[in-house]
Amino acid sequence: MFAQFGPAGNPDAFYEAGFKASADMPEWLASLKLGAYEYQCSRGVNVRQPTAELVGEQAKRYGIKLSIHAPYYISLATEDETIAANTQRHFLRSLEVAQWMGAERIVFHIGGPGKGNDRRQAMERAKRLFARVLEQVDRQGLTGPLLLPETMGKQNQLGSLDEVLELCKMSAYVRPAVDFGHLHAVSGGGCTTSEEFAAVFDKIAGALGKEAAQNLHIHFSRIEFTKAGEKRHWTLADPFGPPHEPLLAVIAERRYTPRIISESAGTQAQDAKTMQDFYRALLK
Ligand SMILES: [Zn+2]
Repeated sequence: MFAQFGPAGNPDAFYEAGFKASADMPEWLASLKLGAYEYQCSRGVNVRQPTAELVGEQAKRYGIKLSIHAPYYISLATEDETIAANTQRHFLRSLEVAQWMGAERIVFHIGGPGKGNDRRQAMERAKRLFARVLEQVDRQGLTGPLLLPETMGKQNQLGSLDEVLELCKMSAYVRPAVDFGHLHAVSGGGCTTSEEFAAVFDKIAGALGKEAAQNLHIHFSRIEFTKAGEKRHWTLADPFGPPHEPLLAVIAERRYTPRIISESAGTQAQDAKTMQDFYRALLK
């Protein structure tokens, strides 16, 4: 088993090659010898069943592992009943699409801490609403795909590694999505050395067990940041951190098999390929 690499969404090169439909992505990715694709529902779940099924069939045919990015509008710590109801709906609709596509992972953002900015209270609210989501998922028979809270890049968002791990402990169907660009940004440059990357895996293994660290879902991009955290995603060619080499060195050395999604701005497939080539060379 090897680590799998692929893009978040459709890169510029895909459109420049004359393609438009996401259903053409799996074949295009296979031609680049990539093995993963994160389908974006980040601006809302608008995909229709036949399209979702076609993406899924093509992914199966070309051996591409599928994940879905759920809407950015999810807000688990909200105190507003309408937003809470919408949040539940975003989860259920994402799970429905995952079923149509055969995607086994759904990445989501926990959301902001809300009024008062008290993170502890906000996390308690987030856990209460998330428990309701998990209950409803169970009741509607949608259990199956993993739900992955993502580590976030801004100080004013919930989603530190500790907060993500706290949600993961609520169910066997919840696993972390670690965005190393975000961790780097929010810590003011704290993901640079292989020791720093290794410490993230060790913390996950300590909290959730070895297997969770071994098969981690990873987002990666170079990222520009300020005191407030994430400012902008760049590409591997740009002069920002985090570096991918020490991360891939830890993964190769420990024989981990994560799924690594490149979130580079526009060059996400090419950059996924660059990382894959580097990783494969390390294994030799
Ligand atoms: Zn995200």
